[in-house]
Amino acid sequence: MYDLVIVGGGPGGVAAGVYAARKKMKTLLITDSFGGQSLVSADVQNWIGTKSVSGFDLGKMLEEHLRAQEDIEIIDSDKVTATSDKEVFLEVATEQGKTFQTKYLLVASGSRRRKLGIPGEKELDGKGVVYCSTCDAPLFKGKVTAVVGGGNAGLEAGVDLLPYAEKIYLLERNEAPKGDAITLAKLTANPKFELLIMTEPQKILGDAFVSGLEYLDRKTNQTKKLDLQGVFVEIGAIPNSEFVKDKVTTDKLGEIMVDHKTQKTSHPRIWAVGDVSDVLYKQNNISAGDAVKAVLNIYEELNKA
Ligand SMILES: Cc1cc2nc3c(=O)[nH]c(=O)nc-3n(C[C@H](O)[C@H](O)[C@H](O)COP(=O)(O)OP(=O)(O)OC[C@H]3O[C@@H](n4cnc5c(N)ncnc54)[C@H](O)[C@@H]3O)c2cc1C
Repeated sequence: MYDLVIVGGGPGGVAAGVYAARKKMKTLLITDSFGGQSLVSADVQNWIGTKSVSGFDLGKMLEEHLRAQEDIEIIDSDKVTATSDKEVFLEVATEQGKTFQTKYLLVASGSRRRKLGIPGEKELDGKGVVYCSTCDAPLFKGKVTAVVGGGNAGLEAGVDLLPYAEKIYLLERNEAPKGDAITLAKLTANPKFELLIMTEPQKILGDAFVSGLEYLDRKTNQTKKLDLQGVFVEIGAIPNSEFVKDKVTTDKLGEIMVDHKTQKTSHPRIWAVGDVSDVLYKQNNISAGDAVKAVLNIYEELNKA
């Protein structure tokens, strides 16, 4: 029986692991990898205490910090698939068929990119269809590209592409992008940029690599085609909350709702932190800080029991 099982090896999970180990709680951390979502970033410049670090090195630093703790067990290549309530504890099950019993569970499983779900997307993933502009914009030097999504992520993808791409279309479903006006102004001031409002991607074209994008012009109800080599999908994220979804209250996005003072969920034995939770801002430092809050609160509960 563990005091605490932590799910996730991103900044949230690792921060929780370090704090739980130092509190001498009997802890198991389960993750399928270390580093989390910014692992793919070429340069993270806002991880406090570090001026600049690649996502890969950040992942290594997190893993090293965790493994330096004496009092923690780590499973680094498995995934939690289900959580069940037992009388006075929880049981978590993993993809590899193991089960673990724990008094408390901390969910730090982050999120994954939302997909368009249109023909050609899966087939051309990594062959011109990309989900990380920070990582891949430099690969599109002199190319014609489209960004799908007019939220902040989409607008920032456009900005990432400005120094490289020959042309950047931005496809927005509604009448105006929802992202920051300042970022939009920076884009619209550049002649390479073209905003296509009231549009909906329908099909990504290409054999070995992307060669075009078909979209519905919702104003005229006509299908139109762009000849291009890159499609940047920036339509949000899906929280990795499936394995606890029937145990805790989630919002309409599937994010686990927490008490932001303690990180406690609607379930008395489950806490959640970082991108899987309904925290307003999704950032590495925030996940780590929320995890510290959660572990200190779980520690208090443990000592009350
Ligand atoms: C391309 C990109 C660049 C970014 N750049 C920055 C930046 O420069 N600065 C910044 O502050 N933020 C940045 N962010 C946001 C930042 O990466 C996230 O806010 C942060 O990673 C969230 O941390 P987390 O620990 O909550 O979750 P995650 O980082 O998503 O980590 C979740 C972990 O849980 C594991 N996991 C998931 N499901 C399971 C399961 N069922 N069982 C076991 N393990 C599981 C995952 O493998 C992963 O290790 C960026 C995000 C992206 C996508």
